[in-house]
Amino acid sequence: MPDVRAAIIPVTPFQQNCTLLWCEKTKKAAVVDPGGDLDRIRQAIAQSGVSVEKILLTHGHIDHAGGAADLRDELGVPVEGPHEADRFLLDHLEETGRGYGIPARPVTPDRWLNEGDTVTLGDLTLDVLHCPGHSPGSVVLVSKAERFALVGDVLFQGSVGRTDLPGGDGKALIRSIKDKLLPLGDDIAFICGHGPMSTLGQERQTNPFLQGEELL
Ligand SMILES: [Zn+2]
Ligand SMILES: [Zn+2]
Repeated sequence: MPDVRAAIIPVTPFQQNCTLLWCEKTKKAAVVDPGGDLDRIRQAIAQSGVSVEKILLTHGHIDHAGGAADLRDELGVPVEGPHEADRFLLDHLEETGRGYGIPARPVTPDRWLNEGDTVTLGDLTLDVLHCPGHSPGSVVLVSKAERFALVGDVLFQGSVGRTDLPGGDGKALIRSIKDKLLPLGDDIAFICGHGPMSTLGQERQTNPFLQGEELL
């Protein structure tokens, strides 16, 4: 039985939850969404004593992907995700970063992710859900065995991702959450891109953006 562990490292002026995720049995790890502040990420890797095997990206926004190219060069590991619909964001990270004062380089993932794909990490298997809306290429990674998900900026505790950025689509976002995430089950705990963790059950019952049917 794999045992999933995670350490959250807030990075960039956006306080993005870069997550060091690992399989406790094998100590194999992934850095999820290294938006920047690589010093802090390096420190967390050293403290945890894990071996980083890959970088995972939930979507192409600067606060999530800005440091991915540098970290890939440094660690010599592949980048997996997001869905290719976010290619336009990853191609322009340098210009976008300049606007926010975040040093960044463009990155082309070694593997784009599609609905139904799986990502492995030691003995851990993560299922890929393509969840457009916040960005067109956003993906959610779910361990059904461990009842755990990484949702990026799709869903937050008490809120949902913004949809006013290029490629955003409010109706698609709510459909992604209601059709793909909520059916996974109330007991799924998730780490999101910003703010505290929550569960799908808590959000189904209390998140103001998910009440009522009118948005469908
Ligand atoms: Zn985002
Ligand atoms: Zn974000």
